[in-house]
Amino acid sequence: MKTARWLAAIFLAAATSLLAADELAERLQPALEAITPDGLLAHIKILASDEFEGRAPGTKGEELSVKYITDQFKQIGLKPGNPDGTYTQEVPLAGIKSEPRMSFMIGDKTIDLKNQDDFVASSARLQPEIKIDKSDVVFVGYGVVAPEYGWNDYKNVDVRGKTLLMLIGDPPVPDPKDPSKLDDKMFKGKAMTYYGRWTYKYEVAAQKGAAAAIIIHETEPAAYPWQVVRSSWGKENFELDNPNKNMDAVSARSWITRDVAKKLFADCGQDFDALKKLAITKEFRPVSLKAKANIEIKQQIRSFKSHNVIGKLEGDDPKLRDEYIIYTAHWDHLGRHPELQGDQIFNGAIDNASGVASVIQLAAAFTKLNPPPKRSVLFMATTAEEAGLLGAKFYAEHPLYPLEKTLADINIDGINPWGKSHDSTSTASIRGVSRTTSKISPTAIQPWTIC
Ligand SMILES: [Zn+2]
Repeated sequence: MKTARWLAAIFLAAATSLLAADELAERLQPALEAITPDGLLAHIKILASDEFEGRAPGTKGEELSVKYITDQFKQIGLKPGNPDGTYTQEVPLAGIKSEPRMSFMIGDKTIDLKNQDDFVASSARLQPEIKIDKSDVVFVGYGVVAPEYGWNDYKNVDVRGKTLLMLIGDPPVPDPKDPSKLDDKMFKGKAMTYYGRWTYKYEVAAQKGAAAAIIIHETEPAAYPWQVVRSSWGKENFELDNPNKNMDAVSARSWITRDVAKKLFADCGQDFDALKKLAITKEFRPVSLKAKANIEIKQQIRSFKSHNVIGKLEGDDPKLRDEYIIYTAHWDHLGRHPELQGDQIFNGAIDNASGVASVIQLAAAFTKLNPPPKRSVLFMATTAEEAGLLGAKFYAEHPLYPLEKTLADINIDGINPWGKSHDSTSTASIRGVSRTTSKISPTAIQPWTIC
C-alpha cells in the first residue's frame, strides 16, 4: 500500500531539520516504522465495520467511534487534548427534520411546488416553525459580494425581508482574450472558490437580512445532480446548537430545480437564460420578479452532545511548547438509511475511516521521534463534517488552545487507496485552505500544492 509511504512523506517533511542525511534516517527510523499498511488497514476495518453503523453523530456509531479513537490515543501515550483532563470536546448539535411547503403567487395565480421533486427547504434556525408570507422575490445572480474582484451582485439594493433567487457556483466569467475559456483572474477560473459554495450563498443572504435564499440547482456548476440535493436535504440534518439558536441564519434556505426556475421566470415575463448571461457581468443588478413567495417549514428538533476527540503530544522545547500544530480528520460518516432495501449502512471506509487511521498512525510516529518535536502536536478527530464541517467550526469558535499560537492544521479527508499514481511527476497533492474557521475571509483562500 503506497499510502503508508505517502503518510511517511508528510511525516518526514514535518520532522526534517538540518541533520546529516544518515543521522536523520537513523533517528527517524522508529517513527517511520510506526506507519504501516497493516496498521492503517486494521483501524479502517474497525471504524468502517457494520458494528459502527456508518458513524452518524448522536448514535451508537458515535459512541463506538469516540471510544475507539480515545483508546488509541491513550495507548499511544498521548495526553488528554482537552485541558479539562479528558480526550473529548463536547460539541452541542441539533438534528433537524424539516417538513416544508412552498408556493409562488404571480398576480392571482398560485404555483404550488412539490417537496423534493421541485424543491427542498429547511432552516438552520432551531425553531419548530418557520413562516414566510408573500415575500417579494428578487433574482440576485450569483449572490456574490467579492471586493477583490470588483464584484457585487447586490449593488445597493435593499433585500431585507425578501426571498432571493440565486445561481449556484462562482460567476463563470469568460476570458476576454479567449471566450471559450474562463478568465483565470476572476474567481480562480475553473477552480471553485468559497463564493461558489451553497454555504456562502446562505451566509451572505443572512447578512443582507433576506427572509429566504433559494438556490437554482444546475447539475454542471453544482457538480452533482438533483438527486443528491434531494437526498441530502430530505433527511435529518445537523446544525450547531448555538446559544442564539442560530437566529442569525437566514430563515429559510432552499433549492429549486432548474425547470421550476425557468418556468417561474417565464411566468413573470422574464427569460432565465438571458438573465443568467447578464449575471456573469460586473454590471449585473438584482432583478425583482413579479412574484411573491410563501414558505412554511415545520421542524422536529433533537438536541444532543457530540464530540471532537483530541490527544496531545507535548512539545519538548520550554519556549516553543505553547505553540501548536494540529492534525485533523473527521470521524463521522452518513450513518444508516432505514428506508434502503438490503445494506443500509454507509460504512465510510475511505471517507473518512482512512483519514482517522492516518491521524492515529501519525500520532504513534510522532511519539517515537528522537529528539521529540519542539512544538506541541494535537491530534484531533472531528465530528459532523458531513453536515457542514460542524465539529471543526465549533473548535475554531471554541479553541482549546489559542488560535494565534496554532501555527497550522493539516486535515486529512480520505487517503489514496488506489496505489501509486501513473503520473510520475506528482506524488501527493494537497489542497487548502478552503475553510479553516468560520471567520476566514474568502479572500484568504489560496490553493497550494506539494509535490
Ligand atoms: Zn470526508
